[in-house]
Amino acid sequence: MTHDHDHDHDHDHHDHDHPHDHGPFQPDIKEPTEEWEFLEIAMRELLIQKGIITAREVEDMIEDWDGKVPENGARVIARAWTDPAFKARLIADGNAGVQEMGMDLPGLKLVVLENTPKVHHMIVCTLCSCYPRTILGLPPLWYKSRAYRTRTVREPRAVLAEFGTELPDSVEVRVVDSTADCRYLVMPMRPEGTDGWSAEELARLVTRDSMIGTAQALNPEGARG
Ligand code: FE
Repeated sequence: MTHDHDHDHDHDHHDHDHPHDHGPFQPDIKEPTEEWEFLEIAMRELLIQKGIITAREVEDMIEDWDGKVPENGARVIARAWTDPAFKARLIADGNAGVQEMGMDLPGLKLVVLENTPKVHHMIVCTLCSCYPRTILGLPPLWYKSRAYRTRTVREPRAVLAEFGTELPDSVEVRVVDSTADCRYLVMPMRPEGTDGWSAEELARLVTRDSMIGTAQALNPEGARG
C-alpha cells in the first residue's frame, strides 16, 4: 500500500510541504519521483504561465480522458452481440459503427475483429503503444511494455496462458499490429448461457482485456445482478 492511502499520513501536513505544490492541479497522489513526472509538471506550468493553455483546460482535458473508459467499448460489443444489423455495420466500418454510439477516432481507422470458435485475435503495437483510446481509455501499463510487445508476436499462446487464457489448439491465434493510422478492437465471442440477456447486462461481461484479446469475455456465472 502506498502512502497516499495512509489516512494518518494524509493529515500530516508535511505531506503537502514538498517542492511541487500545484494547488488545484496536483491531484492528491504521491510526490513525483520519475523524470517524466517532473517534465510533465514543468511543461504544464510553463504552458499555463505563458498563457498558451489555461489551468481549466488542463482539468477539462483530464476529466474528458477519465470519461473514456473500457465501458464504452463494452457497450459497443454488447450491442453488436444483440443487434445483428449493427454488428454487420460495425465490422464493415468500425468508425461508422462506433459513431452511431457517440464515439469517434478522429483521423484513425478503426477495425473491429470478430473472434470465432476458429480464430482468436490479439492486439499489440510492436512499435510503441497505439491503442483505441477513445473506445478503451488509456492502455494498461503491460500493453506498453517491451515484454508484451515482443513476446506477443513470438509466442502469443504463452502470453495468453499468462493471462489465464487457454485456447484449444484448433483455434488459430491471429496477432494484429496497431499502427499510427489504424487501431483494432477485438469483438470477443458472446459467452454461452446468456440467451435473453439485455445489452446492458451483457456489457458487464465484456472486459478491457477481452477487447484487447488477452482474455475472453467473462462467463455469466455470478456476473449477473
Ligand atoms: Fe504504437
